[in-house]
Amino acid sequence: MPDVSADSPATASAVHASSLEAYTTLRLGGKAGAVTVASEPDEAVATVRSAARRGEPVLVLAGGSNVVIGDDGFPGTVLLLRTRGVKIVKRDSRGVLVRVAAGEPWDEFVATTLGDGLAGLEALSGIPGSAGATPIQNVGAYGTEVARTIEAVHVYDKEADEVKELSLPECGFAYRSSVFKNNDRWLVLEVDFRLDDSTVSAPVRYAELARQLGVEIGERVAADRVRETVLKLRASKGMVLDPEDLDTRSVGSFFTNPVLSAQQWAEVQDRLVDAGEPPSWPAPNGTVKVPAAWLIEKAGFAKGYSGRDGVAISSKHTLALTHRGGGSTEALLDLAREIRDGVRDRFGVVLHPEPVLVNCEL
Ligand SMILES: Cc1cc2nc3c(=O)[nH]c(=O)nc-3n(C[C@H](O)[C@H](O)[C@H](O)COP(=O)(O)OP(=O)(O)OC[C@H]3O[C@@H](n4cnc5c(N)ncnc54)[C@H](O)[C@@H]3O)c2cc1C
Repeated sequence: MPDVSADSPATASAVHASSLEAYTTLRLGGKAGAVTVASEPDEAVATVRSAARRGEPVLVLAGGSNVVIGDDGFPGTVLLLRTRGVKIVKRDSRGVLVRVAAGEPWDEFVATTLGDGLAGLEALSGIPGSAGATPIQNVGAYGTEVARTIEAVHVYDKEADEVKELSLPECGFAYRSSVFKNNDRWLVLEVDFRLDDSTVSAPVRYAELARQLGVEIGERVAADRVRETVLKLRASKGMVLDPEDLDTRSVGSFFTNPVLSAQQWAEVQDRLVDAGEPPSWPAPNGTVKVPAAWLIEKAGFAKGYSGRDGVAISSKHTLALTHRGGGSTEALLDLAREIRDGVRDRFGVVLHPEPVLVNCEL
């Protein structure tokens, strides 16, 4: 992605290139009505406020790593958020409260906290995008999610026309979801994380990570070892952005892992003839979470499967749909529909998209 933050001017400013391909990790998306860069929170608020008064839509984009934008683009203003800054707000018996600006690149922030001897975010290393987007879908990986460490989210509330602080319960965090997802009422300006004043990691919560580290689930190790190991695991799956690697031209996981009721789970198990038993994790209220990647593979979609021009399942991870060049959003969505329908026909489970779909639908 072009680093528009490098020479960003003091006021929100128009960018000439209006094709949105340049601002998404998929390298897909049609034109925007206008593109504006904000490097200060006030500029971002002013852009959203004045568009709201004119009744015009605004699409906030930061890293562009969790959006699928239609081939017709976005008719309103695209606001590229490039605000920066990290500061320690307080230290007390509960840990260290760190405030990060929404436009701060997430992985740089994770590395900074670990470098400063603060633990808690190490298992979320290597996730693309901005710090301010992490609350949007309660970003998670390797057995943890940001809701575990977020203390508050500072937002501009378009409806109330005011800047306010939302507490953890007000954010409505759930699996890959929050009050912010698919809702443009709030512009996230800053996020407060409560971290441990320690170089020792949070308990390791994911079997594959524990195995790689040579420890049991629940054990703690040096936090920077967790970061290194997660980065290696993620790279082997094409889950760390690499301009040389087309398998990373994606939005990460295209589908969420389905959470099934006991009855749905029993029905899936009835249909497992010749497929084996899928891995599964117990979820709240007697539900079961099943890996979408397993269902996709067993429904007959192998890594690298394409079936149309310019798009394909990643050669490293069944859950990542990638743009190989010369493709279109419609082709990507068509591939996603084929996979969704194949899994539904084979197992009776409907997969749902994880990214935000802008001006397009599955
Ligand atoms: C290779 C790869 C691996 C990935 N791995 C993971 C993973 O392990 N776990 C995971 O959870 N996700 C993962 N993702 C998805 C993505 O990186 C995260 O969701 C990330 O937080 C998106 O950040 P972004 O800045 O790119 O958001 P964008 O794509 O720019 O925006 C995403 C959505 O959030 C909104 N938004 C963004 N910033 C703000 C703001 N400040 N205020 C209000 N709304 C805002 C946008 O309007 C849009 O609706 C991966 C993506 C890729 C490409």
